[in-house]
Amino acid sequence: MGGKALIVKMMDRCNNGCRVCFERGRSYPKEQREIELLLELGREQGADQVTFTGREPTLHDSLPALVTAARELGYLVIQLVTNGRLMAYRDLARALVVAGVTEVLVPLWAPGADEHDEMTRVAGSFAQAVRGIRALSAVSRQEGAPARAVAVTLGAPVTRANVGRLAEMVPLARRLEAVELSFVRQRDAVVPPPPLDEVREALLVALEAARRLTLPISLHGFEPFEDSRLDDLRVEEAADFTLAPFLISAEAEEEC
Ligand code: SF4
Repeated sequence: MGGKALIVKMMDRCNNGCRVCFERGRSYPKEQREIELLLELGREQGADQVTFTGREPTLHDSLPALVTAARELGYLVIQLVTNGRLMAYRDLARALVVAGVTEVLVPLWAPGADEHDEMTRVAGSFAQAVRGIRALSAVSRQEGAPARAVAVTLGAPVTRANVGRLAEMVPLARRLEAVELSFVRQRDAVVPPPPLDEVREALLVALEAARRLTLPISLHGFEPFEDSRLDDLRVEEAADFTLAPFLISAEAEEEC
């Protein structure tokens, strides 16, 4: 993304109960009008990108209206970070596409349902997220819909539980027609993250798989590895709200 990005953390609730949660305690619920004012402030301060996140934005009743408001205010990139589950309801997927969402980031904990659902502590959450991604793609492709194409990025937070299976996320991302696969450093201190040398080896294998399938991948939040092949993929993470109370720099990372 280029330009300034506004991050809107709009909820303190989530319909998953992940054992590792990047957003717990980092967000509070906001009313529609409060968020509209943030959107206006962001544009006044030069933002042309907005990310709706924290914790699960699809639980906010006004999300489609807020996406519309962002589009009408002139935001060029309107991104949603979501666990994807509620997009399985076509009405919501359609409302978001028609309102003008341009990018959706869906983090999945594992390439398979058992491990993902074990992490989210919600049976069926993997299958529902996959249905959500497919519904979004189908709606955005639908002939005659007054919508633009929506780019889906698959996120993969790297944990001790999944570090051995990172390469398997690559074909999954391909099957889901994601435009990119993003590996994200685990930041929740409650559960220890995997050792960095183990992460490095797993990422190199995943990178090879991504090359074979010509899938772009990126690394978010990682310190430099002693391997330039991985450092080249790193996206620097900016601290929240560094440019102004609600703005972060263009390299800001999507979160879930
Ligand atoms: S889906 Fe995201 S916000 Fe929800 S509990 Fe899991 S990590 Fe936290």
